[in-house]
Amino acid sequence: MRIFEVGEHSKAFCHDCGKVVRTTFSRRDVAFNDGKGTARDVLVGVCDECDRTVSVPHQSAPALSRARKAAAQAIEANLPAAYIDVLDCAVHRIDSQASTDFRRALVTYFVHKIAVDARGGALLLLTHRKAVARFPEERGIVRRRLSMKVPPRVTEDFRRLEASTELNTTELLKSVVFLIQIRVLDESRPRLLDELRALSAIWA
Ligand SMILES: [Zn+2]
Repeated sequence: MRIFEVGEHSKAFCHDCGKVVRTTFSRRDVAFNDGKGTARDVLVGVCDECDRTVSVPHQSAPALSRARKAAAQAIEANLPAAYIDVLDCAVHRIDSQASTDFRRALVTYFVHKIAVDARGGALLLLTHRKAVARFPEERGIVRRRLSMKVPPRVTEDFRRLEASTELNTTELLKSVVFLIQIRVLDESRPRLLDELRALSAIWA
C-alpha cells in the first residue's frame, strides 16, 4: 500500500471536467461514509483543473469509517462502596502512581479476557456467588457510582456477557471487580501483574 503525502500527484476521473485529470493530494474536510458529519483534514485527490475532490486514497479509508468515530459509551452502576475500594486497591497494587482513570483500563482488560474465554460466563457466575457472599448487602449500605466511558466494542462485550450470564450491569460489574480482587489482590500472579503494569505505563 502506497502512502501519499500532500502535494504528490495521481490521476482520477473528474465528473465536472468529464475526463481523466491529474490530481494533487491535499487535506480537506470530507463527509463520513454514512453522510452524518465530517472527518477533518483527510487526504484526498483534488482535480488540478477545477479544484474538486475527485478521489480518496486507501490510506484515508479508516478516517472516513464512521465506526472508528463512534462515541464512547458509558458503563455505569451504583456499587456497594467495598467494590470501589477493591478496584482502587487493585489499581494501586499495579501502579501506585496510576490515576483512578486506570480503573477503566483494568475493568476493560478483564472484560475483554472474559469475553474471549469460552468458560467466561461460567466463571463470572461462580465469581458473582462468591462476591455477594463476601460483601452481603444490608439495607442502607453505602453505594458509590462507577461510570466509565469505554469504546463501543467493550460495551458489546459487556452486553454479550450480560446476555449469557443473565446478570445486569451492576451484578456483572460486581463479578468482574471480585475477579480482579482474586487475581490481582489475593493471588500472586507475577505475569498478570507485569502485563497490567505495562498497560499502566502506556495508559497515561
Ligand atoms: Zn475537474
